[in-house]
Amino acid sequence: MTQRFTNIAEVLADLQAKVQSKPLEKQKKPEKPGEDEYECPICKDTEFVYYKQKSTNGLLYEFSKPCECRERKAWKRRFKQSMIPDEFLNANFENYQRVTQSQKVMYQMTLDYLNEFSVVEEEDGTKKKVLSQANFGLIAVFGEQRLKELPVGERAMVKQQHNNFGIGKTHLQIALSKRLIKDGFNVLVVSDVTFMDELIQAKMMNDEGETLNRLLKSAITADVLIWDDIGKAKWSEAKETLYYQIINERYRKQRPIVFNSNEDRGTLADKIGFAAASRLLGQCGDFLLETEGEDWRLKKKGAV
Ligand SMILES: [Zn+2]
Repeated sequence: MTQRFTNIAEVLADLQAKVQSKPLEKQKKPEKPGEDEYECPICKDTEFVYYKQKSTNGLLYEFSKPCECRERKAWKRRFKQSMIPDEFLNANFENYQRVTQSQKVMYQMTLDYLNEFSVVEEEDGTKKKVLSQANFGLIAVFGEQRLKELPVGERAMVKQQHNNFGIGKTHLQIALSKRLIKDGFNVLVVSDVTFMDELIQAKMMNDEGETLNRLLKSAITADVLIWDDIGKAKWSEAKETLYYQIINERYRKQRPIVFNSNEDRGTLADKIGFAAASRLLGQCGDFLLETEGEDWRLKKKGAV
């Protein structure tokens, strides 16, 4: 979808390097040296505050506790690592259009899904993340692949009747991912075509599978995987295996997948394989919506 996805591993490495090197995003030189040099003057960007305390035997010990900025910085890191496409950086629930019935239904279902997640504080004070046990999918009523198989004359008419583009599926799911990141979840956003290309390239690299494993690991271990436009990539047997591997591994680890597609139940299976599609859709429970409606991207430009 954007250049941001050209090399997922490279981007991650780059982000990690940026996060580790201090100070972050420092451009302006401070006017007076000292407190302004750091993003957080309290801990000097170490994210820990040290303090001395006398113990019962009268000796002075040094202790450390997390600085108040730590949570904010952790949020920033999670946000950067999530790889949200640039054009959706501003997408949120508030600026999602809710005019048509299908938009309202999509919106409500996304909010209901968000409620499946929570962060619970345990007795010992540690925080436990509770994930939804269901996947969440917004798919088409009449898939792209099905449209392509129609005679040319019929295609335009059916396409208009069953429009599936620009109805805000990605917008809503990115809004969801941002809320989850804020709440402390690790979210990874991937865009189907670029992500699958990346995996195939990694598979062909002569590095004993190192790059491929790293990519797979990030997709499998993220708390929530947001898969934009799944089933858009051109089918291949190698891709079918990869789809199944990721979807099945996440299922086994009880980690949800949030996805949207321009394919329908049937054509999605043609594009990602029957086993992968049945696992993916089968885990949705009540959170699978076949949706279509007016193209708001065209509307905005005044083309309709
Ligand atoms: Zn601090």
